Amino acid sequence: MTAFSKKQPTRGENVMLCTHSLGDNKPSPLHWFYFDNAAVFVRPHDSSIGESHWLAVCPECFVLFQMGTPLEQLPIGADEVWLGDEPAILKPEMS
Ligand SMILES: [Zn+2]
Repeated sequence: MTAFSKKQPTRGENVMLCTHSLGDNKPSPLHWFYFDNAAVFVRPHDSSIGESHWLAVCPECFVLFQMGTPLEQLPIGADEVWLGDEPAILKPEMS
C-alpha cells in the first residue's frame, strides 16, 4: 500500500528521491509517499541493496504521477539520509 503523505520522515530515515530532488537545492514543495512495506532497490552505481519507506518527488514528477505515471516509472535518482530541517546529504558509500 502506497499513500501520498503530507507527513515527512524523521531525522535519520532513509529517503528515495527523484533525480530532480537530489543534493542541496531541493525543489519546493517535495511530495512525499510512504510505503507500508519498505521498498527494496538496487543502487545503480555500486549494486548495493537499499530499502526505504519514503519517496520524495519534485512538483513536475508529482504531476506525472497525478496524470497516471506509476511511481516506479518516475526517475528515481538515489537515496539519502534525511536530516530533518537541514539539507539532506548523500548516503555514504557502503563498504
Ligand atoms: Zn522529479
